[in-house]
Amino acid sequence: MKKVVKFGGSSLASAKQFKKAGDIIRADRARRYVVPSAPGKRNKNDEKVTDLLYACYDAASTGAPYGKIFSRIKERYNQIIEGLELNLNLDFEFDRIEKNFIAAAGRDYAASRGEYLNGIIMSHYLGYDFIDAADVIFFDENGTFLSEKTNAELAERLSHSERAVIPGFYGAKPDGSIHTFSRGGSDITGSIVARAIHADLYENWTDVSGFLVTDPRLVENPVPIETITYKELRELAYMGASVLHEDAIFPVRREGIPINIRNTNRPDDPGTLIVESTCRKPRYVITGIAGKKGFCSITIEKAMMNSEIGFGRKVLDVFEKNGISFEHMPSGIDTMTIFVHQSEFQDYEQSVIAGIHRAVQPDSIELESDLALIAVVGRGMKSARGTAGRIFSALAHARVNVKMIDQGSSELNIIIGVKNDDFETAVRAIYDIFITADR
Ligand code: ASP
Repeated sequence: MKKVVKFGGSSLASAKQFKKAGDIIRADRARRYVVPSAPGKRNKNDEKVTDLLYACYDAASTGAPYGKIFSRIKERYNQIIEGLELNLNLDFEFDRIEKNFIAAAGRDYAASRGEYLNGIIMSHYLGYDFIDAADVIFFDENGTFLSEKTNAELAERLSHSERAVIPGFYGAKPDGSIHTFSRGGSDITGSIVARAIHADLYENWTDVSGFLVTDPRLVENPVPIETITYKELRELAYMGASVLHEDAIFPVRREGIPINIRNTNRPDDPGTLIVESTCRKPRYVITGIAGKKGFCSITIEKAMMNSEIGFGRKVLDVFEKNGISFEHMPSGIDTMTIFVHQSEFQDYEQSVIAGIHRAVQPDSIELESDLALIAVVGRGMKSARGTAGRIFSALAHARVNVKMIDQGSSELNIIIGVKNDDFETAVRAIYDIFITADR
């Protein structure tokens, strides 16, 4: 059995948290490869070391004073080392980092030092090998991740290491310079390592016991999701449910390796298991509800639109030419509505309207702003009758006016458009009808 364990920033924010992580790793011999993040927040008002590194670099590389902030960074690591009673001194590393900051080695280099230093500490603490991610994770000159080269090199390197720590978040470009994934990218590193060693499981340890059916800021104490498929997760993550980096599923998905989201502070909780597919019956008809505000709709009306071949293409071409991606496109006989992100659309509004007039000579174009989209996702919906009916009667009872409905062709989700102001009420109503009523 081989497991890759990734620990997020809050799981490694202090010596106390490091000890919890150490206990978890030592409790299971299969936890052989460890991917740490940089130290995160110890409490709500604390700072993430990654943010301190960016700020410190911005000052140091432009000749501004940076001493104070650099001391805060050193202090964070030294406190962890002392708390763990390690015989380790990072002064040499700190000096080298300082020199490289002044020499403007790059913002990515700066940010990556958070994981790099935490990786060194972790490897000492566990007695595992330390493998610098710059030697095994590769990007091209433009910063595109090179998955196959990385997979081959990493597999080869790890075949010589029984137990190792590989820092998350970064790798190297062909010229040796450091490049990072986007924020939260240690999740991706964990997934890449899991793929390379054909892990049985990728455990992602964080500060929540997995995914919840919906956002706890919208519904009090939502129930946890026990099992979710990659596809369901994609739908929910796209709509704003964030626990795992969006791109982290791709490497493990190729190998069919499940991901288990676990809570470092509650190691006995089973967390959420993310799988390719499963026969396990979901406990509720729906798996999750997520949503986002800030959309607007463009409704185009033209008599006999339905018989005009190429109408849709011409309209979408206008959006493409203006560089705007669309979210949904429900249509009627003489109408077609396009949903877009308000922030992306605003600056091009008039150019799009003019473009549509020129392209298809519509009878009218109407805009509506401040809309929210809610995705109700669940593999169980396929075989359950009346799901849409239940959603709409719940919304009607809650006095929410539905602006749009779109059932994905996979029968995995139903997307509902409502006014921004109705967003919270709508999510709560849907939660209640499927979860509270079924408990
Ligand atoms: N430390 C990085 C960040 O704060 C990467 C990560 O934690 O995954 O975004």
